[in-house]
Amino acid sequence: MNGKINNKGMLQIKRAGKMKAQGCPFTEEEYCGDQCPLFGEPTVSKWMGSINTDAPEREKDERYWDLSLCKKTLLFDVFKDERRK
Ligand code: SF4
Repeated sequence: MNGKINNKGMLQIKRAGKMKAQGCPFTEEEYCGDQCPLFGEPTVSKWMGSINTDAPEREKDERYWDLSLCKKTLLFDVFKDERRK
C-alpha cells in the first residue's frame, strides 16, 4: 500500500492511481488523521525492510512503515510523513 500523512496531518492512501484523503467512519465531518487520539505515529515495520529497523537512516526511508489506527494497523510499502521537516 502507498500512503502518506500530509502536512496537515491527514491520512491519504493511493487508490486507483490517486492519493485520496481517508475519512473517519466514526465521525461524519472529520478525516482520519493526527487530530485523533487513536491515530498512532508511524513506525518502521518490524516485519519487513532493514534488519536494523532502529537505524537512524531508516527514518528517512519511505519503505515499510506501520501506522496503527483505532481498529487496525496499516502496513505501507511506500509511505511519506509530510509533517516531517
Ligand atoms: S484513528 Fe479511527 S477514530 Fe481516529 S480518525 Fe482514524 S478512523 Fe477515526
